[in-house]
Amino acid sequence: MPRPKRPQHYYDEIKDKFREERNLRLGYRPPGTDQYTSELSGDLAKYAVDPYAKDVPTREPIADEVEVLFIGGGFSALLTSARLRERGLESIRIVERGSDVGGTWYWNRYPGAACDVVSYDYLPLLDELDYVPVNHYSRGPEIFNHCQAIAHKYNLYDLAVFNTTVTETRWDQTDQLWHVKTDRGDLMRAQFVICANGTLAKPKLSAIKGMEGFAGHSFHTSRWNYDYTGENLEHLKDKVVGIIGTGASAVQIVPELAKVAKEVFVFQRTPSSIDIRDDWPTDPNWARKLQPGWQHKRREKVLAAVENSLEKRAAKGATSPEEKLRKQENANIDYMMRIHRRIDEIVDDPSTADALKPWYMFMCKRPCFHNEYLPSFNLPNVHLVDTQGQGITQISPQGPVFDGKEYGLDLLIYATGFEVQQTGIYNDIVGAGGVNLQDKYSQGIRTLLGIHTAGFPNLFIMGGYQASFQFNLTEMLQTQGDHIAACIDYVRANGHHVIDVKDEAEEWWVQNVIQHRGKTNRSEECTPGYYNFEGNEQRRQDGNYNGGFRQYFQHQGQVREKMEDNFHLAARKN
Ligand code: NDP
Repeated sequence: MPRPKRPQHYYDEIKDKFREERNLRLGYRPPGTDQYTSELSGDLAKYAVDPYAKDVPTREPIADEVEVLFIGGGFSALLTSARLRERGLESIRIVERGSDVGGTWYWNRYPGAACDVVSYDYLPLLDELDYVPVNHYSRGPEIFNHCQAIAHKYNLYDLAVFNTTVTETRWDQTDQLWHVKTDRGDLMRAQFVICANGTLAKPKLSAIKGMEGFAGHSFHTSRWNYDYTGENLEHLKDKVVGIIGTGASAVQIVPELAKVAKEVFVFQRTPSSIDIRDDWPTDPNWARKLQPGWQHKRREKVLAAVENSLEKRAAKGATSPEEKLRKQENANIDYMMRIHRRIDEIVDDPSTADALKPWYMFMCKRPCFHNEYLPSFNLPNVHLVDTQGQGITQISPQGPVFDGKEYGLDLLIYATGFEVQQTGIYNDIVGAGGVNLQDKYSQGIRTLLGIHTAGFPNLFIMGGYQASFQFNLTEMLQTQGDHIAACIDYVRANGHHVIDVKDEAEEWWVQNVIQHRGKTNRSEECTPGYYNFEGNEQRRQDGNYNGGFRQYFQHQGQVREKMEDNFHLAARKN
């Protein structure tokens, strides 16, 4: 349907409102990322405890040597391991904080957990595992099972070590191996270490006055306590439940709470944009017709379609850059106003509907898709507490306090998100010459492809900054895994022992990242959130590579074509 033609002042007024809301929100919480804490120790230590690890066995500390050691057992490790196995690598160890593989899908078991990327694209290695997902969008348990199936297929459980947190990863110049220490007293040695600790793995809490003194039960969304709630939330029937945050996790949880709990209070600071989520069971006739290699072909087709549409848009290039930007912004605003109209159509109470309307450009925050979230607010037991950009700033022993009102709760759920794309969470990474990775990065992140960083030989980073950013994260991680496996294979096949990126290659990539960052000032104009570092000023190199996904993996290929130019490669010193 063609869009109705609206005068430019209509769009300009909405942009003014976006700015107003952003400034309001920033005014309340200027400290950016410092408003959160992920140091979950002391009174907050309970928020980090793994509720899924039952009867953790005691074991002797490990002191052995493997070829490849992964820190973390989520998709990064699984996808890279698959490629390493295909290349004949035998000695692969996953060291994982949880009690199984799965990463995000191990931790995020909250009711309603599901993925917003179409399952046939998101679930990796479908060709290799000869598996077709059961729905158009996969639910959490199916994805977790798929992770376990990958680990079984590629024999990754054999050497895996669970319930173990890596605390230090230090390059030992004498034996030219990484020495990996853990919280279980291990000292494992490894030729190659892959930081596979996930992009959103370390839970963070909003630092709120009085939070330690809350007398009820509380947990973070990634540590759901089914002992307390019951497997089907049946223990919440007579409980008053509050949830802080309205991001993608809360959007999936609220409808489940709404069905069962006596009362639900949703404490909102900034609303998410909620669009339709069309889901259906996979058609068995379609699944039967799929030929081996179908997933790979499908991904190629999706990528080509995106590129073609970009090319078409570029071909229309008679418009000036300003005109192009204006058209993009207007189309974006039209989309957001459709999201507003959808809220009005679904939510009965006009003031609740108004409070649920997001006032920012599409993609300023992670968009959400759900059919039951908005209707939940029509239920008599569900109450929106709209803090209008301020957020909850105080928690009494009874519960959150806002605008002089205390909300007495039995259960308080923190849906306040995670540390984003950090490398070496829980873990000090010390390279050649005793340099700590965080000290190196404190002057600005420096990598080649977001994967290699000079002075840290035989170390590979996955899911960190300076890599491409994809809504379908597994696709991005698979390209990183393919690249890493190819590099390790090259080292082994050519009689080398050590690979370390050259300074010139690293500098080339840093400049490449800088050149493609900040093509628009969209991120500065956006309401704060983790996409724009909570409104913090950011060095241009301290973010993702925005030059395009295809270009990203083409660069990977080009880097590998000239291994000797881009890397110091050396045999093991005797
Ligand atoms: P987010 O970081 O997206 O959301 C945190 C929420 O907490 C925000 O709504 C934030 O408000 C709110 N908040 C923080 N402090 C306060 C406070 N003091 N008072 C009130 N509210 C507060 O975390 P999520 O766990 O929801 O999502 C993280 C990411 O994980 C997603 O963006 C997505 O990438 C991924 N994910 C994907 C899913 C999927 O595929 N469906 C499902 C779940 C997660 P404000 O917006 O104002 O900062």
